[in-house]
Amino acid sequence: MIGNGSTLLLSRNFAVDNMASIDVAMKNGAYEQFKRALKMKPEEVTQVVKESGLRGHGGAGFSTGTKWGFVPKDKFPRYVTVNGDESEPGTCKDRLILERDPHLLIEGALICAYAVQAERIYIYIRGEYFYPTMVTARAVQEAYAKGFAGQNILNSGWSCGIHMHNGAGAYICGEETGLIESLEGKKGWPRLKPPFYPAAIGLWGQPTIVNNVETLAFVPRILEIGAEKFSSLGSPKNGGTALYSLSGHVNRPGVYELPMGTPLMDLIDKFGGGIPNGKKLKAVIPGGSSSHILTAEECENLPLDFESVAARGSMLGSAAVMVIDETVSIPKLMHWMVRFYAHESCGQCTPCREGTDWLLRLSKKFLDGTARRRDIDDMWELADNIDGKTICALGAAVAWPTKSYLVKFRHEFEAACRN
Ligand code: SF4
Repeated sequence: MIGNGSTLLLSRNFAVDNMASIDVAMKNGAYEQFKRALKMKPEEVTQVVKESGLRGHGGAGFSTGTKWGFVPKDKFPRYVTVNGDESEPGTCKDRLILERDPHLLIEGALICAYAVQAERIYIYIRGEYFYPTMVTARAVQEAYAKGFAGQNILNSGWSCGIHMHNGAGAYICGEETGLIESLEGKKGWPRLKPPFYPAAIGLWGQPTIVNNVETLAFVPRILEIGAEKFSSLGSPKNGGTALYSLSGHVNRPGVYELPMGTPLMDLIDKFGGGIPNGKKLKAVIPGGSSSHILTAEECENLPLDFESVAARGSMLGSAAVMVIDETVSIPKLMHWMVRFYAHESCGQCTPCREGTDWLLRLSKKFLDGTARRRDIDDMWELADNIDGKTICALGAAVAWPTKSYLVKFRHEFEAACRN
């Protein structure tokens, strides 16, 4: 984990020994901003978060303060759910917060719960994250013991419990409504939205704010440095910093905390140490495996923030940047990507269930030498028929990258055809 020293917000205590212990965390300022928040009006806290420009770091990039403001005024009880089901291939940053500074997350979740007047927080962590779950669960117990959770917190008159929940290892439980179904004890099948978003109708039909781990961990830092300072750290409309997960063909893969809007090539060359063995850059997947691939030319002069990456035809998503050098076969890369999503499709909607399976079969033909030119167009058509016709975004998560591989690297697919 390396970052830009002057702008470390989330990771500044990652290297502190035993930071997961509440005594050490409190010596380093933990829960001070929560105490401050309790002296503010709940709507004032929401306003500060709104003004900071904080966006969701789970993938969608929606304004966090605006989401909190969607909770209906007169409906109780309300809940906050921490989305720690980090399972997008390439993304590995939430686990660092859970392991190295869990009190930062708990403090952020408590501030959020106070802002929306929730009575319970659920921390949902992916099943495979055994160690992060253990560390965070211990931190939750410590927070209770110090009176930061439970009844009448710090004599404020407000009460809030915290519950831990482990997923069973399904990618789709990272989708907020799939996560809610899973928390309710059901199969993690995503719900149709619109018309009902979780902020209005969520867990057990009650208003529920679902925020990603990284997003909530920013909240104490926003109160600490102020909305204006936070917002000035990033680029226009993208407040603060981000934890960029850098993987693939770079000399120093890892998680880097850098201001929103950091140029992509700076991340790869300056921080990641460039591409090993003098190889050339072929492409970059900028926002986790579900984002459109960018060619080497498209990576030039690209600030890593939501608007800039979208303007280049892809998305920042969870800021998981995957670097691909000239030795990689794009048909092979596509086959592995499709295989993942076909395996993770929950099967609820036909275009996703059937379409991903057909894509998988067709993409395999380019690997075993049986593909024909018309298979390229068939795959594009299949992806296009999945795109926008499914209940949740997993359909798009396989359709978008597939279409981008086929369009931008068509010559590689053609070269792999028999005729
Ligand atoms: S798009 Fe796929 S994963 Fe999402 S609900 Fe439909 S079948 Fe399930």
